[in-house]
Amino acid sequence: MSDIQIVGAPAGVEGAGFFATSLDKAVGLARANSLWPLPFATSCCGIEFMATMASHYDLSRFGAERLSFSPRQADLLMVMGTIAKKMAPVLRQVYLQMAEPRWVIAVGACASSGGIFDTYSVLQGIDEIIPVDVYVPGCPPRPEAIIDGFMHIQELVKTESTRRRETPEYQKLLASYGIQ
Ligand code: SF4
Repeated sequence: MSDIQIVGAPAGVEGAGFFATSLDKAVGLARANSLWPLPFATSCCGIEFMATMASHYDLSRFGAERLSFSPRQADLLMVMGTIAKKMAPVLRQVYLQMAEPRWVIAVGACASSGGIFDTYSVLQGIDEIIPVDVYVPGCPPRPEAIIDGFMHIQELVKTESTRRRETPEYQKLLASYGIQ
């Protein structure tokens, strides 16, 4: 017997009905295994990402070999490196140009918290300007750690509704960043 419960009546495209919940699961599974990352690499952590993409670690095993350098064709923003305050508006613009649903990984200490660059000119973490889903620690993180962060994103993608943007929590999060 199926473990899927028909919650809404009638089951259909409105509410958490059979159709919507099943579609969410199917789309989530497909999306999690075909993410199109946009690598926003500004310094040394980007080198580790190159290793992550190369044959030994091979991120394409997770269906993410198709990197996108157009934000409009990406659903995962991977920020790697020191983000100077002058660069911050560019990063935010790239994020805003991505379609929903979209996810963000802060790779390494600099992207997560400014790292060793505790100075006036460096953003002390990209979550000052955009929402972040997963933080990968390290200076730099090894490719294994980057892959671990990517797998956490995959779990989020599998379990989050395709209507993520419509949830009150997500709306509240975006509003706290001044994003409509
Ligand atoms: Fe470079 Fe370390 Fe900053 Fe990564 S976290 S960009 S390795 S200084």
